[in-house]
Amino acid sequence: MKIHEYQAKGILAKYGVAVPKGEEAATFEDAIAVVRKLFAEGAPGVVVKAQIHAGGRGKGGGVKVAKTREDAELHSKNILGMTLVTHQTGPQGQKVQRLLIEETAAIERELYLGIVLDRTEGKLVFMASQAGGMEIEEVAAKTPEAIFKETIDPAVGFGAWQARKLAFALGLKPTQINHAVTFFQSLYKAFIEADASLLEINPFITTTDGGLFALDAKMTFDDNALFRHPDIKALRDVAEEDPLEVEASKYALNYIKLDGTIACMVNGAGLAMATMDIIQYAGGSPANFLDVGGGATQEQIEHAFEILLSDKNVKAIFINIFGGILRVDRLATGVVAAARNLHVNVPIVLRLEGTNVEEGRKVLKESGLNFQVGATMKEAAEMVVAAAAGA
Ligand code: GDP
Ligand code: MN
Repeated sequence: MKIHEYQAKGILAKYGVAVPKGEEAATFEDAIAVVRKLFAEGAPGVVVKAQIHAGGRGKGGGVKVAKTREDAELHSKNILGMTLVTHQTGPQGQKVQRLLIEETAAIERELYLGIVLDRTEGKLVFMASQAGGMEIEEVAAKTPEAIFKETIDPAVGFGAWQARKLAFALGLKPTQINHAVTFFQSLYKAFIEADASLLEINPFITTTDGGLFALDAKMTFDDNALFRHPDIKALRDVAEEDPLEVEASKYALNYIKLDGTIACMVNGAGLAMATMDIIQYAGGSPANFLDVGGGATQEQIEHAFEILLSDKNVKAIFINIFGGILRVDRLATGVVAAARNLHVNVPIVLRLEGTNVEEGRKVLKESGLNFQVGATMKEAAEMVVAAAAGA
């Protein structure tokens, strides 16, 4: 689960991480009030920041600095409601429904900090770089030596010595080292206690008077641990998520929208991956990843169908089921009911195997609906690719 910058800063502040003074605003009236308050409290200027679940906002025109109240109000008016396009939103962009308005900081240097899971090592890695304020993916690709890394032993935790090594690598002043060590350790503590899966401070800044601040903050969480954190779970903003994915999550379906034309309905994540591969292999492209789970009910299957069909790009549906806990006849009954109720008008190709497969085939045949059934996974994939191509 992703959250907004202002929410991440709220969490980090509780751990003693320094963030600029500011508040979020969801309406223009709120924005005016925050701007007035910050200037009244002596801010030399404010920065108006679009709150969307994507980075690259600065380049896309979603982060504007203002020296006066009038300018700040103008920026708020322009950014609130705009469709912000960044390299992370895709060409359709994301509508800005919220702002974060903060006091400006006297930036001296822009640095980078990040904590991610290194899947090869099976450990967390704390990263730091002097190349802050830029796209870290680009830095990693072009000048990987510019990123310093400390791998964290889960049994020992993030050592002060490691934090110190990174602080020196960033070229911080001797007087800032101890402060930086505390800062980095607080980030690590927040990451662990919140069951985060990613934490990124880009830029992490030094100010002209020697201070250290998190000027931007990105935090994502492990969905499987959210049950332990009702306060974090409450930060979810479904307006930022793909509507079909939100719908799928209501029925405990693991659905990820992709941009191909062949919808897939599969039970089990491994089979779903293999199905996407074989569609690709047969010359097609999957419209989604969908795992209905091992024990899908007829109701879930109907909802899954609805979700697949609401995707306008879908030209054919491939149902690939290995009946284990989910009996094939029960699936077939669900598919027939859904196809009838929803007036499905795209070709459906099935590949069925496992428990009660004969009964399942019978249900399909007796339905009188036009299903194509492939004998093997490969044959079914070829059939569905041909069907999607209009053959
Ligand atoms: P992102 O583009 O989505 O990563 O948004 P950021 O929060 O990182 O902001 C982008 C850039 O705006 C930063 O790298 C800074 O250069 C600039 N910026 C953000 N806040 C301030 C501020 O308070 N003062 C100044 N001068 N620049 C800022
Ligand atoms: Mn940033």
